[in-house]
Amino acid sequence: MSEFVFGSVDGLGDSAGKYAVLTMEVPWNLVKDRMGGTPASITMVTGLESEYLDRLAHDLPSVDTVFGIGGGVAVDAAKYIAWKRRCSLILVPTVVSVDAYVSPEIAVRYSGVVKYVAKLTPDKIIIDYKAIQSAPKNLNTAGAGDIYSITTALFDWRLAHEKTGESYDANIAAEAQKARDKLVANAGEIRNVTEKGIRVLIELHKEENRLQTLAGKSRPEEGSEHTFFYTIEHLTRRNFVHGQAVATGIFISSHYQRGDEDTAAQVMDSMGLVFRPREYGVSREEFIETLLRMKSYSEKAPLPFSILNLVEVTREDAQTLWQKVSA
Ligand SMILES: [Zn+2]
Repeated sequence: MSEFVFGSVDGLGDSAGKYAVLTMEVPWNLVKDRMGGTPASITMVTGLESEYLDRLAHDLPSVDTVFGIGGGVAVDAAKYIAWKRRCSLILVPTVVSVDAYVSPEIAVRYSGVVKYVAKLTPDKIIIDYKAIQSAPKNLNTAGAGDIYSITTALFDWRLAHEKTGESYDANIAAEAQKARDKLVANAGEIRNVTEKGIRVLIELHKEENRLQTLAGKSRPEEGSEHTFFYTIEHLTRRNFVHGQAVATGIFISSHYQRGDEDTAAQVMDSMGLVFRPREYGVSREEFIETLLRMKSYSEKAPLPFSILNLVEVTREDAQTLWQKVSA
């Protein structure tokens, strides 16, 4: 298990030996004057293609420690380089929109396709409140998407168990439910991105990672709500903030599962979790097309059994849901 340090990066470089930094412009500017020490190299990461990362690993000077400072891309690149070069790894997530920093999986792209090539547990994860709080609030609250998704994911898991006999673990489900309830209980702190809100998101990302490992699958947090995210990225060929598109998916799945999408909307608003597709640049036509294709995408992929296997999504439904989700 990695050691989490809640506080700041101040003076961190002084005790890191010879170190390299993998980062991006905006996050680096937030911490560079406070780090201490002198980095042997600073790389502005531009992507996660394997050829590019191999070149970076090859060109890196000899160092004791690699720092990954920034969002998902900087963090994933640093994991890969530290693994290739066998040096220690310190991660400084400067936004908590995705949970790449708690997962040991190293994700690399081969001609655009994500592959998990190895696992590496970072030696330390430094939570610098100041850097995180200077990121746009909406990006941090998006980190709640993959935790609130437990609501609809557990419904699908249980449904799959009843309909197909897929293995289901009631204890893991109960613990996931607890994590989800803790999230909702801290809605105000999360919306305001307070230190407590940040800490809760990080603890729950860790907890979720633990439960997925225990279950041996992503069922505790991933169900039909993720299908919206996969389908819209596939259809539009654009990238969206993961937690926000998943949040739209939660709204849709809630409608088909229990008809309680209004409650879901209320909770997501209370956390400041953006879920209205218009707010992140999706048009009415794109939304409707995505809804109409979710079922076939799920069957073709194929994604695990979910509520989508049991419902028909009509154009009329999709139009009504667009009106509701835009209100
Ligand atoms: Zn997710």
